[in-house]
Amino acid sequence: MSVADIFEERAAFSFEVFPPKTDVGMEKLCGAGGVLEQLYTLNPDYISCTYGAGGTNVGKNLEVLDKIQKDGKCTPVTHFTCIGNTREGIKEQLENYLAHGIDHMLALRGDLPFGWTGTGGDLHYATELVKFVRKEFGDKFTIAVAGSPEGHIACRSLEADIGFLKQKQDEGADYIMTQLCWDMDQFKYWLEAIRNAGIWMPVDVGIMPILDQAATINMALSRNGCVMPRKLCEIISKNWIFPSPFSVGLKTAKGDEACFDADIEGKKASFKEAGIEYTINQIDEYRACGIDGIHLYALNKYEDVARIVKESGIVDL
Ligand code: FAD
Repeated sequence: MSVADIFEERAAFSFEVFPPKTDVGMEKLCGAGGVLEQLYTLNPDYISCTYGAGGTNVGKNLEVLDKIQKDGKCTPVTHFTCIGNTREGIKEQLENYLAHGIDHMLALRGDLPFGWTGTGGDLHYATELVKFVRKEFGDKFTIAVAGSPEGHIACRSLEADIGFLKQKQDEGADYIMTQLCWDMDQFKYWLEAIRNAGIWMPVDVGIMPILDQAATINMALSRNGCVMPRKLCEIISKNWIFPSPFSVGLKTAKGDEACFDADIEGKKASFKEAGIEYTINQIDEYRACGIDGIHLYALNKYEDVARIVKESGIVDL
């Protein structure tokens, strides 16, 4: 059953993983008894795998998705971007995914690598990618597209961004996977606005578990400009690692430890505890908005993610 068909029947639930850079990381994710096999026990409808800028990790992305496909426990979904890709290259790669039985994709422009001003490829926006895939492959792929409830960081206005989202639907996209958004008032505003704009695509909400201070700040601010509600800021402040969570493990110019906080481990643990509770509350709030699915960034971890899934009651286990 395609993911689009699942949305017709009920809310979907899925994970996102990324292709590890090292062989040790790959073994941990894809090896026997590894994280993927553990995640299957939580009954996700699909697992998506990210795609690196310029296709730098294409081999490992395919390896991860190939395992999910062969294991047959849920649907593999590849992320795919325009960055550095020619039309011919896109066609070849997508044919290869199909040859491996992977027929679900998240069609993205892609994050521009540092210093780049454009995609460096033949296609410039996700709208063009959706159009191209439908032209070349017809209905062979189920196509998800990104939606940004706060507006994409580079969009000239939220209205323009919603217009481009509608264009993705008109070009043949099947459902939306959302960018991080902790601001629930903004999310509700956006949800109403897209429906008013004639966007009927199901909305699968992307949620990053709040487990690590530096990673949370980084994810919110390095690219996406996400609003952080006061409650989340309080959790960060109350567990602040001095001089900054980014100093952990670094050395000063004199060769000393840059981080002088005496309770790094204690603060990490209490941050994670409060973050898990925050994430579960966020899932409750989203489900109460009538969304179509929860897409949890598994961050290639099992234990903390399993706790969130079980305690939030997203699935019957
Ligand atoms: P687009 O929809 O193309 O929009 C990009 C910008 O251009 C926006 O500001 C939009 O308003 C504007 N725009 C869109 N169409 C037009 C047009 N026709 N003319 C003028 N302006 C236009 N990145 C990766 O590199 N790899 C990943 O695996 C990855 N996974 C992701 C998963 C999810 C769930 C999400 C939400 C994002 C992911 N990203 C990933 C990040 C994504 O690639 C970036 O957010 C990127 O900056 C924008 O991608 P997009 O598909 O939303 O772009």
